[in-house]
Amino acid sequence: MLDPVNILLVTVLSSIMSLAILGSLRPARIPGVSRWIGAYVVASVALVLTGMQRWGTPALTILASNTLLAIAVTRVLEGCREFFGLRARAPLARAGCGVVAIGIAWWYWAQPSLAARVALVSAFHASIYAVIAWMALRYRPPGRPVYSYRFVTVSAGLGAFAHGLRGITYGSGMIEQSTLLVATPLNVIWLALGILVLPSLSIGMVLLAHDRMAERLEHLANRDELTGALTRRAFVAHAGAMIEAARMKGTPVVLAILDIDHFKAVNDHFGHAAGDRALAHFGRVVATGVRETDLFGRLGGEEFALLFPAMTREDAVMCLDGLRVAALAVRRGDDTPLQARDQRDQSAPHAGLTFSAGVDVLQDGDTLASVMARADAALYEAKTRGRDRVVTAQSAH
Ligand code: GH3
Ligand code: MG
Ligand code: MG
Repeated sequence: MLDPVNILLVTVLSSIMSLAILGSLRPARIPGVSRWIGAYVVASVALVLTGMQRWGTPALTILASNTLLAIAVTRVLEGCREFFGLRARAPLARAGCGVVAIGIAWWYWAQPSLAARVALVSAFHASIYAVIAWMALRYRPPGRPVYSYRFVTVSAGLGAFAHGLRGITYGSGMIEQSTLLVATPLNVIWLALGILVLPSLSIGMVLLAHDRMAERLEHLANRDELTGALTRRAFVAHAGAMIEAARMKGTPVVLAILDIDHFKAVNDHFGHAAGDRALAHFGRVVATGVRETDLFGRLGGEEFALLFPAMTREDAVMCLDGLRVAALAVRRGDDTPLQARDQRDQSAPHAGLTFSAGVDVLQDGDTLASVMARADAALYEAKTRGRDRVVTAQSAH
């Protein structure tokens, strides 16, 4: 069973199974998956060729197999780059494949040396795996659960470690061997560790693809498509959790409710589609004007909520005033969302948006609902005082 050829066979079979799973993920059009599939096709061919070393010609079983395996892991790397939103092509790794091919040919025919070949191939694989391990650590999208990313880091890291050690033990001449597929214990261990990285990495890739699909579904369920804000339900859930966290840390939390002024008139004068564009623009203005940690939700229609963790009421009011200026500036930009149906229409509202906001800070014993009620009362006051302003509730007194 521990014959290296058997290990190769098991790896080929598991690569084929990985292909079946990765293939099922193709229709979801997740970046990188097609490259990973290509990688595992090439890897399977390479492993079959490697396993034929006792029978086939060296040009196929040594030169072609090693080169194809190098191409396969390069494809895995490029798939990972694509998955993480980087430019897929990795020129250095591609050049490395060329170096592997030339080195193998040189150290097989010109200056035969198994040690040099193993050292070269191992160094190449160790570097690629190390980069993949690092990428999964570095580029995990913020807020995503760590499991799948850590899984990739650990399997690729183990691969880098095994190949690294293998390269060192062979390259330094600690092990002398004339052919690769002999069943010495150390050889079996290195082969197993080095080659079994491929199937475990493929599981990691499936996990990554699943995480990306989960992220998409969560986005669909929690985000308002038009404005990019959280849906009311998601806002309430996240806000509740953030309020709890702030209580534990003893940091202040400010809640604001925003309502666009005279939005009905916007719809009436510019049309519902323009109203939609205005809402979308308002969503972008808010998203770029608040911190990444602030929570932005659409409560319904043209009414929104913002939760500012670790912020004073004064700073929140300043932030909201900044948003008022930014929302108003819309009419001067080239991307004016509102085009009057009739430019001569004197009764048409300004093509810039104003909004009113009510603000209050979370008190001891408050729930999200109670602070929202006070912010809402303050919003009502802002509307009756003439709109286009931010009003704070007098809850402190
Ligand atoms: P106020 O200053 O008092 O808030 O006046 P308003 O006109 O903004 O308030 P009102 O609640 O009377 O009207 C809100 C309007 O917002 C009515 C509704 O047609 C419009 N609206 C709500 N959701 C959407 C949407 O998704 N798209 C568009 N185009 N309009 C929307
Ligand atoms: Mg309104
Ligand atoms: Mg309203």
